[in-house]
Amino acid sequence: MQDDIPYLLLTPGPLTTTAQVKAEMQVDLSTWDRDYNDIVQEVRRILVALATNEPGYTSVLMQGSGTFSVEATIGSVIPPTGKLLVVNNGAYGARIAAIAERLKIPVTVVETMETSYPLEEFTIALSTDPAITHVAFVHCETTTGMLNPIEQWCQIAKEHDCQIILDAMSSFGGMPIAMHDLGVDFLISSANKSIQGVPGFGFVICREEAIKQSAGYARSVCLDLYDQWRVMEENEGKWRFTSPTHVLLAFRQALQELADEGGIAARCQRYAKCQTRLVAGMGELGFRTLLEAEDHSPIITSFFFPEEPWFEFNAFYDLLKQRRFVIYPGKVSQHETFRIGTIGDLTVDDVDDLLVAINESVIALKKYTTN
Ligand SMILES: *Cc1c(COP(=O)(O)O)cnc(C)c1O
Repeated sequence: MQDDIPYLLLTPGPLTTTAQVKAEMQVDLSTWDRDYNDIVQEVRRILVALATNEPGYTSVLMQGSGTFSVEATIGSVIPPTGKLLVVNNGAYGARIAAIAERLKIPVTVVETMETSYPLEEFTIALSTDPAITHVAFVHCETTTGMLNPIEQWCQIAKEHDCQIILDAMSSFGGMPIAMHDLGVDFLISSANKSIQGVPGFGFVICREEAIKQSAGYARSVCLDLYDQWRVMEENEGKWRFTSPTHVLLAFRQALQELADEGGIAARCQRYAKCQTRLVAGMGELGFRTLLEAEDHSPIITSFFFPEEPWFEFNAFYDLLKQRRFVIYPGKVSQHETFRIGTIGDLTVDDVDDLLVAINESVIALKKYTTN
C-alpha cells in the first residue's frame, strides 16, 4: 500500500472527510484570539439550530473523543441525590453504565440482547423506582447499527419527570432528531461522526435551564460540563483549557458542507441510499445482516461472518484494505459479525466500488482455501 493513495474509511468515525475539511487545518489560531472565539460562538449557535428552533437551548464543546463528552455529561448533570437509569443493548449503552458505576452514581441498568431493545422493562423500571431522576440511552447503537425507539423511551421518561440524556453520537447530523419535541435535555455527539469533521472534540446540546441547574454537581475538574459551558458563555467562545483550534476550523467547514448539501434531511437521504445499496449488494454476494431491515439505521450495518471454510476475517480485511477500503474491524458484538459504516464523504458509486472489491476479495479467499 502506497502512502499517497487515500483510503476510504467505512467506519463510524473517524470517517472519510472532504479535502476542504482537511485543508482548513492549515491555519494556526490562538485559543485566546477574538476571531477564533467568534468562530467557536458561531459553531455553538449552528449546533443548537441543527437540533431545534425553539428558544432556551444552548451548546457546549468539550475536548477529547466522544466518550469524554458522555462522561462529562453523566458526571456533571446528575445531582448527588439523583439516580440514573441506563439502557444497555450494545457496547455504547454498556459504556454509559460503566461510567456511572465508576463515578459511584446510583444506577439501574435495563439490558437486552443487542438484536432487540427493552420497552416493557424500561417502563417497569421507571414506574417501580421513584428514585430515578435521569435516563440515558443511545440513539443509533453503533455496535450493531440498531436504531433504538427513542420516541417511546423519551415519552415514558417524561411521564416520570426524568431528565433525558441522549447519546446521539453517530446519528446527529446524519438523521433528523427533534430534540425539543422529544423532550431531550442533553444531546451528545462529536466532531468526527455524521457532521463529517475530524476527531478532537465532542459537544453537548442542552436545555439551558437544565445545564444551569447542574452547577456544582461535577465529579471531575476537566470534565465539568457546567464550568466548561459557563466559561464559554461568560468569555464568549473561550474554552477553559487549550482548545483544539485546527479541529474546530475543520468542523466549521464541515458544518458549511452539511448546509450546502441541503441540511440533515438531505444527508440522511444520501446515507440511507448508500446503506440500502450496500445491503442489497451484500445480499447478492451471500452476506446476511444481523438485524431485521426495520431496525436498521442508515449509519452502519452488521453482517454475519459467512459460515464457510474460506472465510477468515483478518484476511478479508487485508484484501479490502489493499483495494483501499477500510471496514470496521472492532468485534464488540455478541455475534460473529463485521460492520460497514455508510457515513462520511461517501456516495453510492463508492459503495458500488466497495462491492466490487468485496467480490474480488471473496474470490481470492476461496482460491486460497482450495489451493
Ligand atoms: C462513536 C460513539 C461514541 C464515542 O466514541 P469515541 O471513540 O469516544 O469517540 C459513543 N457512542 C456512540 C453511539 C458512538 O457511535
